[in-house]
Amino acid sequence: MSYSSQETAEQTLLRESVHAFARAEIEPRALALDEKGEFSVELTRKMAQQGYLGAMVGADYGGLGLDYLSYIMLVETLAGFDSSQAATVAAHNSLGVAPIGYFGTQAQKKRFLPALCTGQGGLWAFGQTEPDAGSDVQGIKTKGVFDGRKREWVINGSKQFITNGSSPMTHGITVLAVTGEKGEGRKEFTTFLIPADAKGLEARAMHRKGVWRSSDTAELFFDNVRVPEDHVLGERGQGFKIMMSTLDRGRLSIAAMGLGISKRALELALGYAKLRWTFGRPISEHQATAFKLAEMSARIAATELLLYEACWLCQNNMPFEKKAAESKFMCSRLAEFCTREGTQIFGGSGLMEESLIWRMFRDAQLLRIGEGTDEMQLLVIARRMGLYDRD
Ligand SMILES: Cc1cc2nc3c(=O)[nH]c(=O)nc-3n(C[C@H](O)[C@H](O)[C@H](O)COP(=O)(O)OP(=O)(O)OC[C@H]3O[C@@H](n4cnc5c(N)ncnc54)[C@H](O)[C@@H]3O)c2cc1C
Repeated sequence: MSYSSQETAEQTLLRESVHAFARAEIEPRALALDEKGEFSVELTRKMAQQGYLGAMVGADYGGLGLDYLSYIMLVETLAGFDSSQAATVAAHNSLGVAPIGYFGTQAQKKRFLPALCTGQGGLWAFGQTEPDAGSDVQGIKTKGVFDGRKREWVINGSKQFITNGSSPMTHGITVLAVTGEKGEGRKEFTTFLIPADAKGLEARAMHRKGVWRSSDTAELFFDNVRVPEDHVLGERGQGFKIMMSTLDRGRLSIAAMGLGISKRALELALGYAKLRWTFGRPISEHQATAFKLAEMSARIAATELLLYEACWLCQNNMPFEKKAAESKFMCSRLAEFCTREGTQIFGGSGLMEESLIWRMFRDAQLLRIGEGTDEMQLLVIARRMGLYDRD
C-alpha cells in the first residue's frame, strides 16, 4: 500500500514482488522464529537469493542497484511482515555494506562487496555501541593501537547490541575504535573492517530480547585482535565522521520500518474492524473506531511524504540529514501510535502473543531507541536549526 502518487512502475513492481516473497516465505515462519528467539539462516539465504542483501550496490559488484527510495520501500514492505527479517536486511545494507561502498578503497570493495551482495560472504555488521557508551559515541573505550613493526592494528575492547554480529552467517564487522588523541582532550577515531573469524574476537549472541526476537544481536569482545593496515575503512582519524554519516542514512531505514509497521497495522485493524460485530453492527461503523482508523490513515499519509522526501534528497546528493532525523522521529512515533490504536481495535485478541498486531506493537519500541534514540534525533534537529550545541 502506498499513498505516493509519484511511485514509478518499477517501484510498484518491486513492492509487489517483495510483498509476494514475504507472504510466501516470511509470514509462515515469523511467529515460530519469534517465539523461539531464533535467527534463521534458511530465511536469510532466501532473502539473499532475492538480492535483498545487495539492495543499493551496483550490478558491477553483484547488487540490485536500487535507488535509495526503492531500497526504503523494500525495507518498509518486509517490516509489515516481520521486524526481525527487516532488521537483518536493513542493518546489513545500511550499516554493513553501505559504508564499505561509500568509504572503501577499490581493493576493499572488490574483496568484500560481491560476496556480501549475494549472501555467499554472509552478513556484515556495524559495531559502535559499547556497554558504557550508546548515545554518547565519543565515550567509547575500544582502542586500536598501530604495531609499526608488523604494520598491523591491534584492537582491544568490547561492543554490545550489535545486529548481525554473532549469527552463523556473520562475515565481519565495521568497528569504531579510539586510535589516539587530537589535543585538548579530543579523541581520534578510526573504523576497522574486522573479519568475524579474526583471532581474539569472541561474539556472543544476546538472547531473551523483548524486540526483534529473531534477528541476531551480539556482544563482541576484542582481545588483541590484529588486522593488517589495509583493513582501515577510509583514513585513520575519519572514523567518527564515517560512523555519523552511516547513521544519517541508516536512520532512513529505521524510519522505513516504522512506516511499514504502521501501514500493516492499519490494514490489519481495518480488516478486523469490518468483521467484528458489537451492538448489531461491525465495530468499523462505531464512530470511535472509524476515527481511530481515519487518524491512522491521515498520519501515515503525512509521514510517508516526509520520509520519501528525505530519501529523494539523499539520493540526489542534497542535504538530507535534518529530514532524516525528522523522519526517524516521526515514523517511530507513527508506529507506536498505529500499533497502539490497532491493538485497541483488536480488543483482547490484540493482546495475545501470537497476534501480529501485538508483535508489531512490541517491536515498534525499538524504533525509538536504535540508531539514535528519539532524544538524539531531536538533538540533531535542534542543532540543524541552530538552537542547541552543547552535547
Ligand atoms: C536490538 C538492538 C539492535 C541494535 N543494533 C545496533 C548495531 O547494529 N550497532 C550498534 O552500534 N548499536 C546497535 N544498537 C544500540 C543502539 O543504537 C543503542 O541502544 C542506542 O543508541 C542508545 O544507546 P544506549 O542504549 O546506550 O542508551 P543511552 O545512551 O544510555 O541513553 C539512555 C537514555 O538517555 C537518553 N539520553 C542520553 N543522552 C542524552 C542527552 N544528551 N539528552 C537527552 N537525553 C539523553 C537517551 O535518549 C535514552 O533515552 C542496537 C540496540 C538494540 C536494542
